[in-house]
Amino acid sequence: MSILVLGGAGYIGSHAVYQLIDQGEHVFVIDNLETGHKEALHPDASFYEGDIRDIDFVRSVFAKESIDAVIHFAANSLVGESMQKPLQYFDNNVYGTQVLLQAMVEAGVKHIVFSSTAATYGEPESVPIMESLPTKPTSTYGETKLTMEKMMKWTEQAHGIKYVSLRYFNVAGARGTAEIGEDHRPESHLVPIILQTALQQRKEMTIFGEDYDTPDGTCIRDYVHVEDLIDAHLLALTYLRNGGTSNIFNLGSNQGFSVKEMIQTAEKVTGKEIPVQIGKRRPGDPSTLIASSEKAKQILGWNPTRTSITKIIEDAWNWHSSHPTGYGRNDLS
Ligand code: UDP
Repeated sequence: MSILVLGGAGYIGSHAVYQLIDQGEHVFVIDNLETGHKEALHPDASFYEGDIRDIDFVRSVFAKESIDAVIHFAANSLVGESMQKPLQYFDNNVYGTQVLLQAMVEAGVKHIVFSSTAATYGEPESVPIMESLPTKPTSTYGETKLTMEKMMKWTEQAHGIKYVSLRYFNVAGARGTAEIGEDHRPESHLVPIILQTALQQRKEMTIFGEDYDTPDGTCIRDYVHVEDLIDAHLLALTYLRNGGTSNIFNLGSNQGFSVKEMIQTAEKVTGKEIPVQIGKRRPGDPSTLIASSEKAKQILGWNPTRTSITKIIEDAWNWHSSHPTGYGRNDLS
């Protein structure tokens, strides 16, 4: 069995490649290395450097290799940036997926596992968020992912490509062996920013708002360990190979932690003081996002095991403290 992983040099994609290879799968990677890192590529994966919007390039990979399923991580994924550059997000995310699906139709590949997001829901009507809640994205990023899901739905009807869309909540942590981890330039995610502050790479960090309607006033998020998240992708592949119908699942941990709780836990894990200042709210941040992942547990048999935030922060810390410059560049910008 051969799997094509698009975006396999990125944070989440690289963890998928490692776990697929651990399971004995034969893996091909496409990545344009715009945000991904060559150093994050698994040495046993066959790598094709190129852009998914280049149909001739994508066709050539399907023509050369015998691929039976696709896992699609290749997308821009920052809410703030998507509000500044909406057309870039539609081009890379939506048009890129259109090209990919076109190439899959031509090559007769019938299974895709897709990386989606809690940002498809927007400000939720209730928590925990179930898949049946309305989708009303409040960012271009969320809108593009929802559009990509809809594109897969209609493509399935015409061409029979079955999909599983996985809506991620807050992914954090790193592979237990610390060979690979999270390295975004610039970094905007909470856990790496906390740990870069613990490493004194930042003088202090900013808490975005202390006046939310939550017990300590800071935003509550549902953090899921990247390795648990990838376990769900492997189960989704098995589900599709066993004839499962197209479906959408949330991936979270059903529990929420505030920004302050994350910082306090990181101080315990690292033994370092983490200086903070209180800043303004970040535009577009909902106060509380917590997933119901019951559907993934029941239908895919997902059983996340690294659910404590201490474990998530410990694994992230093992990566950051052993790779203080990430994949090698010294500047964090
Ligand atoms: N956050 C923060 N300071 C930072 C980065 C993030 O207070 O420097 C907060 C952010 O407002 C949100 C939570 O941490 O409530 C998680 O943010 P992140 O960007 O990691 O993920 P998001 O929830 O936006 O997907």
